[in-house]
Amino acid sequence: MARYTGPSCRLCRREGQKLYLKGERCYSDKCAVSRRAYAPGQHGQGRKKLSNYGLQLREKQKAKRYYGLLETQFRTYFEKAEKMQGITGENLLSILETRLDNVVYRMGFAASRKEARQLVRHGHFTVNGKKVDIPSFLVSVGDVIKVREKSAKSPKFKAMTEAATNVPKWVEVNAESLEGKVVSLPTREDIDIPIAEHLIVELYSR
Ligand code: SF4
Repeated sequence: MARYTGPSCRLCRREGQKLYLKGERCYSDKCAVSRRAYAPGQHGQGRKKLSNYGLQLREKQKAKRYYGLLETQFRTYFEKAEKMQGITGENLLSILETRLDNVVYRMGFAASRKEARQLVRHGHFTVNGKKVDIPSFLVSVGDVIKVREKSAKSPKFKAMTEAATNVPKWVEVNAESLEGKVVSLPTREDIDIPIAEHLIVELYSR
């Protein structure tokens, strides 16, 4: 599946807030949003008030960028969310959260979703004992995600997992055995990203 390969910090600056796409750097004073808190490009400092459509579009772009997705894949998730019972916007976020790359990041095995995606692609994880190298794989309740035996020799995983501080309550992580379990599906309260998902629903309902 295609992905954005341009500069990550530019995306944050465009959205006017940190999207935490680069791991450690995002928490340092090297963060581009802290240094240049305006949109990139020639007209970055001269943008005017957004229309309703503009607000909806920005919210959708922000969500896509948080999860590292392009339009087609994001739209497919939206269509899936629409068919589910419940509130479409919340369903959408719940689906996005259960992508394997996001779960690996949430469990603390990677410093960013981008890194998590790469680690998954390189085959460092198993789901219920089977190697899975598809970042878009959707996990279910009860699934056990584990760093593969060969990869577990790298001290990187252990250090990262032990240092992980904000593991959400819908996953359980064992830093010793380098594995984590999905104990429930994430609800809206469990998802801490500042997205107004109803604006995305309004945009796609136009
Ligand atoms: Fe975004 Fe991180 Fe770059 Fe800051 S350092 S602009 S949060 S990707």
